[in-house]
Amino acid sequence: MVAAPGVKTSADFPIPDTMKAWVLGNPGELKLIQKPVPAPKRAEVLVRIDAVAICATDLEIIDHGSPALIQGGKPFNKNFTPGHEYMGTVVALGPGVDEYRIGQRVTVEIHAGCGQCKRCREGMYTSCHNYGLNYGDVDKGHRANGFTTDGGFCEYQVNNINTLVAIPDAMSDEEATLVVTAGTAMYGLTELGGLVAGESVVVTGPGPIGLLGVAVAKALGAQPVILTGTRDNRLKIGRELGADHVINVRNEDVVETVKRLNGGKGVDYVVECSGAPNAVNEAIRMVNRGGKVCLAAFPHAETPVDVAHIVRNNIYVFGIRGEGKSATHRAEAFMSQKRFDATKIHTHTFALDDLPTAIRYAKDRVDDAIKVVVKARGVAAHRVAAE
Ligand SMILES: [Zn+2]
Ligand SMILES: [Zn+2]
Repeated sequence: MVAAPGVKTSADFPIPDTMKAWVLGNPGELKLIQKPVPAPKRAEVLVRIDAVAICATDLEIIDHGSPALIQGGKPFNKNFTPGHEYMGTVVALGPGVDEYRIGQRVTVEIHAGCGQCKRCREGMYTSCHNYGLNYGDVDKGHRANGFTTDGGFCEYQVNNINTLVAIPDAMSDEEATLVVTAGTAMYGLTELGGLVAGESVVVTGPGPIGLLGVAVAKALGAQPVILTGTRDNRLKIGRELGADHVINVRNEDVVETVKRLNGGKGVDYVVECSGAPNAVNEAIRMVNRGGKVCLAAFPHAETPVDVAHIVRNNIYVFGIRGEGKSATHRAEAFMSQKRFDATKIHTHTFALDDLPTAIRYAKDRVDDAIKVVVKARGVAAHRVAAE
């Protein structure tokens, strides 16, 4: 790291000038290169990345580009490092930073936003109006590491202090990478109104966000919490995370079963995490009149929706992006108080050098993979053998 004036470092955490970093070439192509270690500016710290989890959105970005936005366009062949679900240790402080100390373990949110637009000022920094504007003469300072700025598939990254979440020593590196996933689930429930104690909730789709959505809804006191999906092994983990009921949609009519399990009525809330083609139409039939549906998945294609049913029944439908309104801090509070065990969704760990193998496990669900974590230190690389 070539430090600017005012940057604080410590002899306990020596910082090299360059680091290993994966960068995106053509669609689907990742290359391991050496990059300069970035230096933190005002209101930023340098984080040594100790663990980074792979998210379905990373797979989407690596193959298709969106929702990453680099210099106004797709992120290919721009020396861009993806990866956004990481945690680590603070190793350098930008000028004036005294909110965190060197050596402190943190996990990170993705979206720093621009800090100056209407939505950022409302706490909706994942909906920043200046998304991706951080270059040339449209530099609004927007940051969303792994989306509009370099991310976590490397050894060090700079983070705005508004994206840091302090974690306790008792929380493992792997668990800490899951805080942002739980934070996304928490944000969905926040946007639904947040007062879910005693209310009925369906979560559709037992991916990482869906499974932690069950855990967070249960921790917030919802009942019953019903999880729907197609894979029995994942529904079983949902039960362990607090689902009162699980429904395998291959075996049962999901709307009828939800109603039967909730005393004949639809539920108060649905958190849609599957992205399945008919998910919205099913969700609006699972909720009772006046119920609320939160959409947290990115479907691939446009799908027709029964709008008349939504209007006739005064149903509220929300889209959410990521983890706004400090939801990550609330999720971390549940996790550090051991209100649920997020590590149940962590299945595999690989060395940073083995990122392509790790991605293959996540994408093809090899060996029932759910959350796959990559670490730059302490894990033996198997590059030659595994490829
Ligand atoms: Zn993610
Ligand atoms: Zn903004």
